[in-house]
Amino acid sequence: MLYRLKKSGYQAHLVGGGVRDLLLGREPKDFDVATDATPEQIKAAFGNARIIGRRFRLVHVRFGREVIEVATFRSMQFQQEKQSDEGMILRDNEFGSIEEDAMRRDFTVNALYYNIADFSVVDYSNGMEDLECGLLRLLGDPETRYREDPVRMLRAARFAAKLGFNIEAATEEPIARLAHLLGDVPSARLYEEVLKLFVSGYAVSAFEKLRHYNLFAQLFPQTEEALAHEEHEFPLVLVRKGLENTDRRLAQDKPVTPAFLFAVLLWEPLRRIARELEEADGLPFYQALQQAGDVVVARQVQQVAIPRRFSTPMREIWTLQARFHNTKGKRPHRLLAHPRFRAAYDFLLLRAESGEADPELAAWWTRFQEQQGLDPKGGGKAAEGSKRRRRRRPRKRPAQ
Ligand code: ATP
Ligand code: MG
Repeated sequence: MLYRLKKSGYQAHLVGGGVRDLLLGREPKDFDVATDATPEQIKAAFGNARIIGRRFRLVHVRFGREVIEVATFRSMQFQQEKQSDEGMILRDNEFGSIEEDAMRRDFTVNALYYNIADFSVVDYSNGMEDLECGLLRLLGDPETRYREDPVRMLRAARFAAKLGFNIEAATEEPIARLAHLLGDVPSARLYEEVLKLFVSGYAVSAFEKLRHYNLFAQLFPQTEEALAHEEHEFPLVLVRKGLENTDRRLAQDKPVTPAFLFAVLLWEPLRRIARELEEADGLPFYQALQQAGDVVVARQVQQVAIPRRFSTPMREIWTLQARFHNTKGKRPHRLLAHPRFRAAYDFLLLRAESGEADPELAAWWTRFQEQQGLDPKGGGKAAEGSKRRRRRRPRKRPAQ
């Protein structure tokens, strides 16, 4: 791939997380290529290429099942009309030199280029040194860089969690102060970032970092509120255990679904509203859960979008919690046949383990499944929902 570009007379470099992770001896998730060829020239050099993106145009080149993202070097020039009042970059398509491209990247450790012409690592910003010290340092003035793109605050927390790096002091200082700027980021983009934070195998650590930097409250204000005011331990325990489960499943290459993840993250605010509806309006638990679900989801999607294919099963996981209380007659058999039974049962176990639900009830359902010849632990039909693990498709945010 790189050689094809080179043969066509262009510069070609590997860049970004792929280079960083290789140098750290970790398995890279994917590779990005930076070149001085324009998107049209890249497309001309490869038959199997597609130009994508509006905010930043790049080319996807397909190699069998892999897709490699190829981007043209971008320039430093900001054009006034392309920035919002807060200094946020709205479009970013000026081509430039490799030096300029390096300065537009986020962290020094993400701005290392592997040059295939002579197999050297090109480092314009002491990224190698930071890599060795385990430091995340933003290029340029941190506050300006966060204002350009507030998602860089989430990226700081994410890489700190993923790599176990520290955030360098000047890069760290503005975060809590500027966290509110995430309110200006489109909810669909935040959804993508939330997935990267919580379904990449280091969710527990990402959660701690996000809370520490006041970023979690920007993503899940209702949850933060419920956790902060909580007189009991169990809501926090539930979230932690839920995230631990997710990390463990990913480590074992088992499927995880965003539906279950969001069900965990939003359960406590939902439970509180449902309890109020039960007590004040005398609603049955099932209806209370349903109505509380409407409220919690409507508020949540103002921050972080949740696609319907996940919010629908998420709500089923919630409402089925009420049906677990029916253990008489035919009803348990009907519940067992529900397509979301598995995920809802796993959720009940999580509630029981964290001390919120009755462990006896959870044990009853475990025994009931065994009596029916089912394996309560088995990933029988669809463990934790129905979605296979997301394909390894580069679904990422291009660089600034
Ligand atoms: P991951 O391991 O999650 O893939 P990554 O560093 O490769 O980490 P990507 O989102 O794939 O992250 O981005 C690739 C590269 O593009 C980054 O390494 C960085 O150089 C640049 N980049 C991505 N997002 C931004 C941003 N918001 N601002 C500046 N540069 C960015
Ligand atoms: Mg990457």
